[in-house]
Amino acid sequence: MKNEIYIVGMGPGREEMMTGEAVYALEQADVIVGYTTYLKLLGQRFQGKELLSTPMRQEKERCRLCFEEAEKGKKAALVCSGDAGIYGLASLMYEIGREYPETELFVIAGITAASSGAAVLGAPLNHDFCVVSLSDLLTPWEKIEKRLEAAAAGDFVIVLYNPSSHKRKDYLMRACDILLRRIEEERICGYVENIGREGTRANICTLKQLKEREVNMFTTVFIGSSGSENINGKFVTRRGYKIEKNTDICGNN
Ligand code: SAH
Repeated sequence: MKNEIYIVGMGPGREEMMTGEAVYALEQADVIVGYTTYLKLLGQRFQGKELLSTPMRQEKERCRLCFEEAEKGKKAALVCSGDAGIYGLASLMYEIGREYPETELFVIAGITAASSGAAVLGAPLNHDFCVVSLSDLLTPWEKIEKRLEAAAAGDFVIVLYNPSSHKRKDYLMRACDILLRRIEEERICGYVENIGREGTRANICTLKQLKEREVNMFTTVFIGSSGSENINGKFVTRRGYKIEKNTDICGNN
């Protein structure tokens, strides 16, 4: 029988926002591997399990640790925030997994920040959208710029992951400057901090205002398309339905 590793997207934070499948996979696991912050977020329910963590940035070590635990015959689970296959460790696990052909990987979907953040703001992703990470740790900035330009040209709603870090405080401002070449200053934007965690904070503003805002790394940013608007304080992207005024049974207004 093959060894098994479950790669689990735990959603944005709170256990209620984890899928039933993710909870089940973690309950079955003998050992749960993850970044310290995520293991803490798991709460009491899984504290009886063997929990193994590696510090931030040690992604390859974290993945290898999973394979080593699985090789000991344990059922291992690797936890990532949101969805493990969206700026998470799922792909790295498959890459490293080439060296461990006797181990089978299973990816369990989670609610990604674009989706959970959208729900806080209203319905900003109700038409075509794209997602761009502003982190240039693994992607050259020139490529990020190109993708932002293309997203603006395509009139997509744009979701920005990794909008800031200690070393990259001005990246959101730089991204807004690129978008402002094609998008008007008054375009609706929004951002949500600490989705599904303590201290959730949502803001709606214009693209011009967004450029001056300072956000932290636990924030997801949304830039509207030409079909987006503010409806009673909520960020909404129209799907395109024609809405007639309500008529009564006799057809009168
Ligand atoms: N795999 C994760 C994304 C990891 S990249 C997912 O699918 O959600 C890290 C970025 O995701 C952060 O910089 C932030 O932009 C976003 N993010 C992840 N969790 C978040 C949360 N709880 N609140 C706000 N943004 C979050």
